[in-house]
Amino acid sequence: GHPQRIAVQIFPYAKGRRLLLTRDVTALQLAEAMRRDFVANVSHEIRSPLTVITGFIETLQTLPLNDAQRQQYLGLMAQQAQRMQALVEDLLTLSRLEGSPPPDASQWLEVSALVEEAAAHARALADVLHGGRQTIEVQRGPHAEVAGQGSELASALGNLASNAVRYTPAGGHITLGWTVLPDEALEIWVRDDGPGIAPEHLPRLTERFYRVDRSRSRDTGGTGLGLAIVKHVAQRHGGELLIDSTVGRGSTFRLRLPPARVLVPAPSTSAPAG
Ligand code: ADP
Repeated sequence: GHPQRIAVQIFPYAKGRRLLLTRDVTALQLAEAMRRDFVANVSHEIRSPLTVITGFIETLQTLPLNDAQRQQYLGLMAQQAQRMQALVEDLLTLSRLEGSPPPDASQWLEVSALVEEAAAHARALADVLHGGRQTIEVQRGPHAEVAGQGSELASALGNLASNAVRYTPAGGHITLGWTVLPDEALEIWVRDDGPGIAPEHLPRLTERFYRVDRSRSRDTGGTGLGLAIVKHVAQRHGGELLIDSTVGRGSTFRLRLPPARVLVPAPSTSAPAG
């Protein structure tokens, strides 16, 4: 824990009399420290690609290069610019999620469409990152609808699916699916047989910019904000993000959402294995 901080103010209010006002500012100071951390992190995340780009500009300006070399340098600069772009987009998404009231959840969304869209996104990314050498499957649950905000849920599922693809090596298996729990809550899950995450990291995984392996995250285009976004979306829908993982075996991320409207029950629904 953090030590408690008390602010003390003294007001003289009559001859020889003082009013002592104390206020617990622990939370305030913690929030301030978090804000400072965040700004430092964002600055660092912007500075590193910018340094690379600046370096290449200098090289292009000063060295006589042939066409092939120029193309190579421009390609590397474009990569770094894309990294900054992804960061800015995730930052904007986060600030929108944090600064706006919860979404109007009166819209009923077809669960299978949400999951298939995330699977398609995962397949496209797997083609780019692993030459398609990953199996990406959908294990269908009951035909159901969930009340929520479509683009937010799509972005949350897209983040979970792309993490599974990015952290699981070529040859791995990724399964997306959904389950309606006994209390009717809907759970959409993404399972991979990738490296898994050690238990000591799990509690911090949804913190902004928290990464287990910095270089693996960066090399695959990670901003460090994906799971923070997923957690926000879950909470805004009155749900939560649950993570089960075993090192060397894989991870399951479950997005638990409010009660679903089941249209046609599936013959059998399978729960995600841990
Ligand atoms: P990043 O952009 O770094 O992927 P996220 O917030 O999406 O940021 O994830 C935070 C960290 O959680 C990642 O850097 C990675 O270490 C870990 N992680 C997320 N998903 C997985 C997964 N499917 N398998 C293993 N590790 C994961």
